[in-house]
Amino acid sequence: MKKQELGGRRHFLLSMARGLGLSAMGALVWSAYIDEIKASPLVLRPPGALDEDEFIKSCIKCGLCVEACPYDTLFLAAPGDNKPIGTPFFTPRDVPCYMCEDIPCVPVCPTGSLVEDYVKTDGEFDIKKIDIGKAVVDTSSCIAYWGIQCDACYRACPLLDEAIKLEYSSNERTGKHAFLKPIVDMEVCTGCGLCERACITDKPAIYVLPNEIALGKAGSHYIKGWDKDDEKRLKGAKNEVKTTDLSSKSVLDSLNDDGDLY
Ligand code: SF4
Ligand code: SF4
Ligand code: SF4
Repeated sequence: MKKQELGGRRHFLLSMARGLGLSAMGALVWSAYIDEIKASPLVLRPPGALDEDEFIKSCIKCGLCVEACPYDTLFLAAPGDNKPIGTPFFTPRDVPCYMCEDIPCVPVCPTGSLVEDYVKTDGEFDIKKIDIGKAVVDTSSCIAYWGIQCDACYRACPLLDEAIKLEYSSNERTGKHAFLKPIVDMEVCTGCGLCERACITDKPAIYVLPNEIALGKAGSHYIKGWDKDDEKRLKGAKNEVKTTDLSSKSVLDSLNDDGDLY
């Protein structure tokens, strides 16, 4: 629901209630309820949103974030959108988030459902910190993975050569061509969806999923030894570190041991 429509929403609902009568209104509310309980987990929220469960509880559906967006990216879910009704979302294939430097959709939120601190560094808005979701590539339909030259998503990405990189490899099928395959860096991708919008295939071969769906979880007992910040966790866990006697166990047993630190 766009800004020009927001002001008329109440008037529209009142007129409709008068016109349809209470029974029809009841049917509308019921269908809205059904729509809400079947809400899709694939919803993409505005930048800085709380975790989905908290967001649903705290968003009052005022539409101020929608009004603040200069690109008309955001909509309030209507019956039939298969999303919790009245909550803001966007569909990157239609209109992506253009990653405004001042992120105007966030500070207008009166309920803290969009959290300024999530999108700030040292007290300043930092658009690179937005974390709406992650772009994933369907390698079976991305034509770059077939060996056909295409870098539409790579060029569209505002974090050029950071969030998407092109991986070069030779095409052994032809023996004389190369693959330039787009690879998304999950730690850099903001989920803006400009790549999804730009993808040239009929149905996008690169698309943004919410973090809960796109990302796995390694488990806290795995430590990246090459990452100084991650390695700090070892200090706190020192007393819990178990050693593994590889000589008396199979390698598979050792790998499957929960709680071991490698
Ligand atoms: S960052 Fe800009 S383009 Fe993206 S949703 Fe917010 S206001 Fe709209
Ligand atoms: S401004 Fe905040 S409370 Fe209002 S619709 Fe947007 S997220 Fe919900
Ligand atoms: S969603 Fe796509 S365009 Fe946006 S940062 Fe991630 S890879 Fe780049």
